[in-house]
Amino acid sequence: MDSSISVKENSQKRNAIEPIVKYRDVHKSFGELEVLKGINLDIMPSEKVALIGPSGSGKTTIIRMLMTLEEPTLGDIIVDGRNLWKMEKDSKVFRANEKHLRSVRGDIGMVFQHFNLFPHMTILENCMSAPIHVKKIDKQTAKKRSIEMLEKVGLGDKLDNYPSQLSGGQKQRVAMARALVMRPKIMLFDEVTSALDPELVGEVLEVIRDIANKGDMAMVLVTHEMDFAQEIADRIVFLDNGIIAEQGTPTEVLESSNNERLQSFLHRFR
Ligand code: ADP
Repeated sequence: MDSSISVKENSQKRNAIEPIVKYRDVHKSFGELEVLKGINLDIMPSEKVALIGPSGSGKTTIIRMLMTLEEPTLGDIIVDGRNLWKMEKDSKVFRANEKHLRSVRGDIGMVFQHFNLFPHMTILENCMSAPIHVKKIDKQTAKKRSIEMLEKVGLGDKLDNYPSQLSGGQKQRVAMARALVMRPKIMLFDEVTSALDPELVGEVLEVIRDIANKGDMAMVLVTHEMDFAQEIADRIVFLDNGIIAEQGTPTEVLESSNNERLQSFLHRFR
């Protein structure tokens, strides 16, 4: 086989892959406070992106907008080739397409710092709820998938327990199983270990590592776990003062950047 042709074909194939998420000049204000001042960010279908930056720099806001929990003030967020939000002529943001928003919500899983489990449901019921009500999957299939997922995160023996009966690390693993059972294309993790006692952090990172190693899902992690970000991220994005101040491979960002703000931020973790 002529290897030059196959290299060319491969590069054409690579070029044909579109980002699953595009932020285009996204601004976000809360009242007078402009938190995001023009974010441009592409996320590829199986890319693992770690968002780092000082507290209050807008990391959570970036992923909450993707989860459609916040609207941008200006700019476009495009998921799977379609705009989530569109500007009207008078600059009022409106929901571009309710149907697309619903399908996007089904394609994106989010895990929060404070778990957000339903306290009155068992952990099995917590996992079954969205597949049944959002994806309209039949109850038996939802149950089977939920049990499999809870077994994968090491909680197969806790199906009938309530969240209050679990440790923080176990609750966070339930939250991950609950998101994964929807088979999302994108997983968002918002400082998922920061509310945990230090000895429980490892078990949660282990589950994320597992998901990352499977490779097929895009992941965006807001994290202060620099070593972990370095280990699993394809790209690290440093947010500062409402803009992306630096981005690149973990080595580029964590070891060889000259950005002073980034250096002083990283200094706190050393
Ligand atoms: P980070 O995740 O980097 O810590 P956030 O995205 O949570 O930052 O918040 C960025 C800024 O926006 C903070 O100053 C925060 O207080 C403010 N903020 C976030 N959400 C709201 C809201 N719903 N109403 C008002 N201010 C908010």
